[in-house]
This record gives sequence, C-alpha cells and structure tokens, in this order.
Amino acid sequence: MADVLIEGERIARIGPGVGAGVADALDGAGKLLLPAFIDGHVHLDKVLIRDELREHDGTLAGAIGAIHERKRRYTVADVRDRARTVIEESVRLGTTRLRSHVDVDTIGGLLPLEGVMAAASDCADIAEVRTIAFPQEGLLRDPGAFALMEAALEAGADVVGGMPHWEEDEASQRDHVRLCFDLAERFDRDLDMHVDETDDGGVRTLEMVADEALRRSFVGRVCAGHVCSLAAAPHDYAERVIEKCARARISIAANPVTNLVLQGRGDRGLVRRGVTRVGEFRTAGVNVLFGQDCVKDGFYPFGRGSMLEVALISAHAAHLTTHEDLAFALRAVTEGPAQAWRLADYGLKAGGRADLQLLAAPSWEEALRLQSPAEKVWFKGRLVAENTVRSELYRGMAG
Ligand SMILES: [Zn+2]
Repeated sequence: MADVLIEGERIARIGPGVGAGVADALDGAGKLLLPAFIDGHVHLDKVLIRDELREHDGTLAGAIGAIHERKRRYTVADVRDRARTVIEESVRLGTTRLRSHVDVDTIGGLLPLEGVMAAASDCADIAEVRTIAFPQEGLLRDPGAFALMEAALEAGADVVGGMPHWEEDEASQRDHVRLCFDLAERFDRDLDMHVDETDDGGVRTLEMVADEALRRSFVGRVCAGHVCSLAAAPHDYAERVIEKCARARISIAANPVTNLVLQGRGDRGLVRRGVTRVGEFRTAGVNVLFGQDCVKDGFYPFGRGSMLEVALISAHAAHLTTHEDLAFALRAVTEGPAQAWRLADYGLKAGGRADLQLLAAPSWEEALRLQSPAEKVWFKGRLVAENTVRSELYRGMAG
C-alpha cells in the first residue's frame, strides 16, 4: 500500500506515508488506483452516425461506401456535437487522452477535422484529444486528397495518417506510403496509418511501411493500425515483417473490437477473427495497443468509450487469459498507447501527470472481469468524473 501525493497537475511523490497530514486525503483502501486509460485509436468524426446510414454488407468496404452520403451532409456543428458526446462518455469511464483519426478527403474536405478540433477544445478541461489526418478514401484513388492532407497539417492536425492498402495496386500503395512519410518528415509529425485492414494475406503494405521507416531512420515514430491481413499471411512473411517492425520500433494498434465484426465476412464454417498476430508481436517485443476504433458508426454498432470493455473484448479475441496475459491487456490500454504517443509524463510515478482513475475493485483482473466503472476520474489533478453503481438483492422466503 502506498500514498500518492498530488500537487497541481502532477504526482509529486508516491510511497508509504507520503500523504501523512494532507488535509484533503482520499482513502482508497481495497480499491485500485490506475493511470487513466488512453484510447490510442478512435474515429471521433464518425461516431454516433449509425442510425442515419443505410444497411450494408457488414464489410469495411460496405461501411466506407455507406458513410459517403452522410459525410456529404456533415456540418462542423454536427461533427463537433457527436465528438464531444463521445469524449465526455470516455472521460466518465476513465479515459482522459484520445487520439482520433479524422477523415481528410474530397468528400468532407477539412470539415471533419474542424469539428473534431472544436470538440477537443470544448473538452480541454476534461481530456486531451489529438488528431490524425486520415486519408480514408486513399491518396492516389482520391485526387485532391494529398493537398487536403497538407492543409490539414497546416491547420493543426497532430499526426499524419494513411491507408495504403486502400489504393488500387501495389505501386500506388508504395506511393501512398512514400507520400505519408514525406508529409511526416516535412511537418515533423509522427505517423499513424491504417495498415492492411483486410483478410487477404497477399496484401502486404505493413512491410512497405516498415521498410520505409527503416530506410528513413524514422524509428519509434510510426503506429500501424489493424494489420489484419498479417493473420492470414504465411508465417515466413509474418516473421520477417514482425522483426522489421521491432527494429523500426513500430507500434501496432490492434483493434480487435471492430475487426471481430468486420473481417471474416466471406468465410463459412471456420470464420477468421480478423485479429492481427498479437501474441507474436508481443513475443518480439513490439509495442501493442488496443483501441476502441468505432462508436456506433457504419463499421460497428456498439462501443461506449469504455477501454475496460475494449480490453475485455480484446482479451477474448487475442486469447489472453493468464495473469501475465491480463497484465498485458492492461498495458495495451495504458502504457502501450502512451508509448505510441511518445508521452514522457504518463503513469503512476513521481512527476507523472495526475490523470488517474480509482476503480472499485481490488485488482485489475477483477475490474476487467466485473467491468466496474471508475468511481473517480482525475484529469491533470482535478476530479472530472464520478460514477456510482447501486445494486440491491432482495432475499427471503415467499409468504
Ligand atoms: Zn480505424
């Protein structure tokens, strides 16, 4: 048992007795204090639009197509309101940092970015939200998107996104990767790309990304999201590319929650899970994170900004059951995304930013199993949310 002493926005000291004599002390005995969660992969511009979309075939391509019509009708206020709602819900459930992809393409232009940035500023008192300029419709497939990407970065998007596998052929995929790295270098931004979100094991843009990162010595600054096709690819390719990812210190944002429902749609009988090689990345020492990805949009009808739920579903998808596995699941929604985000001040440590949560469970494994919402959430040392759960059980013989 230790005390955590908070001064202003920071943790000043941690240790037995360091809180002695503090007037506004809080007794957390029997409960679990954790750093607040980080959602390292979410799409705040698209959240909560599902009820306005036509039904589709349930695939990634089906969802992207179904969203086009709605995207044409986006307004800044509309995006801003929906994004703000999900940021607030996330904070209530213990997440104080979110990194959001935001579509940048010739359908919505920069309007989604404007809306999400406005929501981020609306919520600056409760959360830190960063944006990733994401060419959802491709760069070569969508002429004009590259100029919009430049404009998005000039307008303040924090990270360069990408989606190379969405291009028409291998040469275009390679060009897409090169263009994204050019932007990252020119604007001095990190990269966070959607990579190989398909069951087709022949799609291999992850290796293009890893090769490019190594060639340019852009090491420790790239995150690759989804990476589903790696699960379907031959083992020799997988081993080679995982080793390259480790060398380039690429983070992998596995988002099993959405990929469980998006992938494997064409399979009968043994249906593929669409989940990347989480265990092999882990063994190779590659940083892995789990993201919410979607909240009630065209890709996924569920989601509520609960990283506790994301960790639980991801644990099912990635066969995480031992004590060590479950500690890894916690890392994938805390330290993992912090590392991908290159945060120096994250975590329960002296000097760390006091973004914390108190869970009404004696251990992480119990919190995960029982899905106990955070009793209290702090952002920069200030209490920003509280939850109480009331449950009564009435016993006794009838009559
Ligand atoms: Zn995504």
